[in-house]
Amino acid sequence: MEATGQMSPSDVKFDTKYGPLINGEIVEAADGYIDAVNAATGKVLSQIGRGGKEDVDRAVKAAGEAFPKWADTSIEERSILMNKIADVLEENQDRLKLIECMDTGRALHEFDLDYQLAINQFRYFAGAILTHYEGESRPVENGYLITKKEPLGVCAQIIPWNVPMIMTAFKLAPALAAGNTIVLKPAEDACLSVIEFGKLISDILPNGVVNMVPGYGPEAGQALIDHPDIDKLAFTGSVGVGRLVGRTAGDRILPVTLELGGKAPHIVFPDVDIDSAVENATLGYTFFNGESCILGTRLLVHDDIYDEYVEKLIERAKQVKIGPPTNRSTRLASIINEKQGERVLNYFDIAREEGAKILYGGNRVTVPGHEHGYFIEPTIIEAEPHMRIAQEEIFGPAATVTCWSDIEEVVKVANDVEYGLAAGIMTDDLEKGLTLANRIDAGSVWINSYFNFQTGAPFGGYKNSGVGREYSKEALDAYSQSKTIAAAYKRPPFGTFM
Ligand code: NAP
Ligand code: MG
Repeated sequence: MEATGQMSPSDVKFDTKYGPLINGEIVEAADGYIDAVNAATGKVLSQIGRGGKEDVDRAVKAAGEAFPKWADTSIEERSILMNKIADVLEENQDRLKLIECMDTGRALHEFDLDYQLAINQFRYFAGAILTHYEGESRPVENGYLITKKEPLGVCAQIIPWNVPMIMTAFKLAPALAAGNTIVLKPAEDACLSVIEFGKLISDILPNGVVNMVPGYGPEAGQALIDHPDIDKLAFTGSVGVGRLVGRTAGDRILPVTLELGGKAPHIVFPDVDIDSAVENATLGYTFFNGESCILGTRLLVHDDIYDEYVEKLIERAKQVKIGPPTNRSTRLASIINEKQGERVLNYFDIAREEGAKILYGGNRVTVPGHEHGYFIEPTIIEAEPHMRIAQEEIFGPAATVTCWSDIEEVVKVANDVEYGLAAGIMTDDLEKGLTLANRIDAGSVWINSYFNFQTGAPFGGYKNSGVGREYSKEALDAYSQSKTIAAAYKRPPFGTFM
């Protein structure tokens, strides 16, 4: 295996087991353990707690007890601690990236972006909390008015397996900065780096402020959302489980943030330089192993350049280097598990059955020494926009291509999906690009550079892609509630209302 930065995979030592993190320490899991597996080799890396009601109850109790004191910490103090968390993540990133790479099967080089985004989150919220609207005080007739922000309490946060450290930072940073305590449930397929990070930040934060309960969704996750003592629900994952979380929030009148799926259109105008537009599109549909809700997987290409564009897109797909996840030069590696791998391959069968044409790819590839893993070719499918392959989230390295010629038609096609998380536009005419961006129903629109994440820019979805925004000051509001205190100098004299 290739050496990476300061470390090579054989340097990484795992604990023999990772129970839940409760009250600042790893404790024994009440309901036993499950294997944590290297997604590409099938090797058992360690054991993680199989969280259930008892672990969740202990974690929520610890978070509840830690809350009053944490809520009372000054914003300056919280800001200092958030910066320390960013430092510790930065110092330990080589090791954590390798752990995450082995756990998830994604290519190691991708984690440079993941960790940059995650570190930025903590630094951003360390600063943002200092300038967040903290309310106002002003004299009013016969008294004084005070408006203020208060934290919500114990936040239940559930994250998926695809980008574990990005998700951990997106959830923890704003909630902590706003003065909440947390119980986080990472996905059972990808929680080793998250719990290792939890151990590191336990030396920085007071006990009980961040707790983590690993385990299966229907057990640990369900027990968490059902717990009577939580004050906020935050979830990233599938629309199906998102609905369940939303329903629970509705029944219990709890504030909720949902970040769900996506199926982003990526629209190509005929004025572009084709090579750079192909490069941007390839990055947009293959990065994160294709396992992300923000990928630009619905390529809509103008008729004038369609044939040449598609030919070059196929040539570029052929060059994408598939290989072992821990090799720095690998660009596409293993899907998280067999179930997800089979799901992706099954979508290619569905595409064939509905009359779409697989122009390139569509197959599982064997990588020597990694036969367990699902390595899937970058796949390009010519499809009609209404087909399932062009409508549903595949979560694998695949894009559909569809031709367009009329701007009204492409707006309609781009918006004709249940999702609205992200979109891309490629044109040399910024006026055209910006005009079109205003008409696309998506929370993020990237013109000419896909994944153009800028710290502090709101991130979240239109339509079925979710409720609420992360990554920005809006997230601080999502983890706070406002209080108005109106104080009168004098009570009305007796008889005023008679
Ligand atoms: P998922 O089932 O929605 O899982 C997301 C998180 O919810 C995981 O931590 C999961 O735990 C947990 N969970 C599952 N059932 C639960 C329940 N009844 N109560 C509480 N928590 C529960 O998504 P997935 O199975 O990982 O992926 C399925 C599809 O979702 C993907 O193919 C993709 O389309 C979409 N997805 C979207 C995103 C995104 O960022 N928007 C991310 C991942 C997946 P366990 O995983 O431990 O069971
Ligand atoms: Mg794993």
